[in-house]
Amino acid sequence: MTAESEVPTHGVSGGLVLSNATVVKMDAARRVFRGDVVVRGDRVAQLGPGVTAPRAQGPWRLIDCTGRVVLPGFVQTHVHLTQTLFRHLACDLDLLSWLRRRIWPLEAAHDEQTNRAAARLGVAELLTGGTTTILSMETVHHTEATFEAAHELGIRAHIGKAMMDQGEGVPAELRESTDESLAETRRLCSRWHGAAGGRLHYAVAPRFLFSCSERLLRRAARLAEECGCLLHTHASESKDEVALSLAAFGCGCIEALNHVAGCASTGTVLAHCVHPQAGEIAILRELDAAVAHCPSSNLKLASGIAPVRAYLDAGIPVGLGADGAPCNDRLDALGEMRLAALLGQLKSGAGSLTAREVVELATVGGARSLRADHEIGSLEVGKKADLVVLDPGRGYSSAPPPRFTGDTDAAENGSSAAAEELYAWIAFTCSPQQVEHVFVDGAHVVRGGDLMSAHTGGIREEAARAIALCRRRAGI
Ligand SMILES: [Zn+2]
Repeated sequence: MTAESEVPTHGVSGGLVLSNATVVKMDAARRVFRGDVVVRGDRVAQLGPGVTAPRAQGPWRLIDCTGRVVLPGFVQTHVHLTQTLFRHLACDLDLLSWLRRRIWPLEAAHDEQTNRAAARLGVAELLTGGTTTILSMETVHHTEATFEAAHELGIRAHIGKAMMDQGEGVPAELRESTDESLAETRRLCSRWHGAAGGRLHYAVAPRFLFSCSERLLRRAARLAEECGCLLHTHASESKDEVALSLAAFGCGCIEALNHVAGCASTGTVLAHCVHPQAGEIAILRELDAAVAHCPSSNLKLASGIAPVRAYLDAGIPVGLGADGAPCNDRLDALGEMRLAALLGQLKSGAGSLTAREVVELATVGGARSLRADHEIGSLEVGKKADLVVLDPGRGYSSAPPPRFTGDTDAAENGSSAAAEELYAWIAFTCSPQQVEHVFVDGAHVVRGGDLMSAHTGGIREEAARAIALCRRRAGI
């Protein structure tokens, strides 16, 4: 583990120094350098070679990051914390069967305690995997417990209850009237949007085109604008869903959503967008909507491969998401990066989606998708101190293989080829095992790979009890 020390100084407030690291800034110039990251309060205060604590004043904590790589914390723009307990319980199914036969009955079996257990388990896995910001669509009820778990464990989160006022195969427990759905959304938004010093946000989240009435979709989009929230939904995930849209609306899901509800000017994030129809990429661009690319989920549910290259070429913001645990069955951003990079080659040809671009999706791309790139997504003075420290040697019983991290010295000296090797290490080789430290808002939430804000043994035990309860209630 990295060495930590207190630096005795005097006078004004202190902070944290991550010293002698290879720092991958993800700023506009995509600079890489060896040096220090200085954090004061919840912000990055200084960056550069040789910026050390003794020159500053106050009580400073120094973490020696020699041999480590420091990056902005990862952003995942589509997850479902509520589904974390249902991992391994919904395999070998296409999207609509997966929802109707497994996921909706299991979500209907949640109570407040089991949903809290799901959220705590999910946030623990996300943080220890280096994810510092999420956009999570929850189930219809008990979303209060999800916010409380995110508040407790320290992740940055946009969270919204799923809105569903119709739909084939929806259990009675998940059906709500249009007005109930809007009222609960409004209540949660007024309670949580901007809470925890701005770390928590509400996201208005109609589930998808076929679980919402046109009135609900329209009102949801306006409510997002009224409250200054993101609008988040699923769109064009599977061919079956697109066929339903063509039959009902005469166009694809993205065009139908736009026709029915329009996008929110405060920001719209559409999960998946695997099968855009003619003209729909132009619609996304005109509306300044973002796409959440979920490669593992799209493969597990046999949905297809999203045309990420086409979205990026059109200037559409793209982020990455693990989606729910039962359609992945992991929640780590590094796994999604690797798969996105591999699928990018398959979909659009060798070199069509580089390792650097994939790291961008998980950092600046995600931040831009959430309209939060002025605060997160890159390491720059004045931005939020959301950081991940990767140790190439962690998780191996012996020393890592030679050139494991590429030539970081050359990368730090401005060699673009060497920097590309570093991005390739992050995107293709790295796993959550290499995540050593994670900071959100300057708070040390993962230290030496361990969650700091709660006892993980307790989270696991609570989750095991909750899984048994949900399975019994759902008969699964
Ligand atoms: Zn989803």
